[in-house]
Formats: sequence, structure tokens, C-alpha cells
Amino acid sequence: MPHASVKTIRDLIYWEYAKLIAGSTVGDRKNYGFVMHSYKKLKDGQMQPSNILRENKKFFNEEKACAYCASAEEGLEWEHIIPKVKIAIDTFDNQVLACRGCNAKKSGRDPFEWYGKERQYEIPRIVLGKYLKLIYDLHKKQGTLDSGDLNNDGKLDIYDLGVVLK
Ligand SMILES: [Zn+2]
Repeated sequence: MPHASVKTIRDLIYWEYAKLIAGSTVGDRKNYGFVMHSYKKLKDGQMQPSNILRENKKFFNEEKACAYCASAEEGLEWEHIIPKVKIAIDTFDNQVLACRGCNAKKSGRDPFEWYGKERQYEIPRIVLGKYLKLIYDLHKKQGTLDSGDLNNDGKLDIYDLGVVLK
């Protein structure tokens, strides 16, 4: 559950970024104290999400392995994190290398749909970082960054982020 002070889509994306940062330094996205620390820094503007993405880009350029299972088998494919049919803009930010097995298993789902609630902490950092950037851009474009419960289910959670998708 996001912290009680997470009230808008923007807050929620920062919260997810904070979990991403916690995962890279202490190896545990559920480390509450550390997540809170990074979240506050993002909210105050002391930390920029773009820093995380630069790190991702570096990682991405060096890595020739499946983003999901780390397989380095022959014939890796460019996989669309958010399926093309669900997104109006198709950019490089939406692509990672994936093995044929993972690509087929994921099929037409976005990462949160594929991993489900229980396994959401296992979504690879590179995938989550890119997903958050795309989602942030889409909400910005639609003017919904400062909205709350977009899917009207009574709570603000990651499932509200996907509302900008088709
Ligand atoms: Zn794979």
C-alpha cells in the first residue's frame, strides 16, 4: 500500500520510483523507511526521476540479455513493455530486449497485468523504470498528473496508472 500522503497520480509515480531506488541500493523495494526517504526527496525536487532513467539507459546499452529472465540466448527480440495496441505513442522507451519465451508468455499484457499483485515487486527495474517514465509522460499529456482515483475503485494504486492506456 502506498503511504497515506500519496494522493495524486504524480505522488504515486514518485512512490513507485522511490521503491525502484530502494531496490537498487538495499535490494528490497519493500524497505519502508528507505522508500519514504527517497519519496520525500522526489516530492521536494531534491531528486529527479531522470537520474534513475539515465542509469537504466547505461545498463540497457551494455546488457544483451532478456530484461525479464536474464537469458542471453540467441534471437532476443524487441519487446514492447506496454503493448502497441494500448499506447498512442511508440518510442524506444517502450522497448526492452526479451527472449522468445518471455515475449510469448507476456503476450498482449503490460508488466503489472503479467506479474499480478503478488509478484509486482519482481518486475525488473529496467522494465519498471521505463514503464513509469512512459506513464508519467502520458498522464502529463492528458493533464491527469494531479488527479486521484482515476479508475473510481475507491483507492489510489498502481491500477490507476494504467487508465491512460487504451
Ligand atoms: Zn526471458
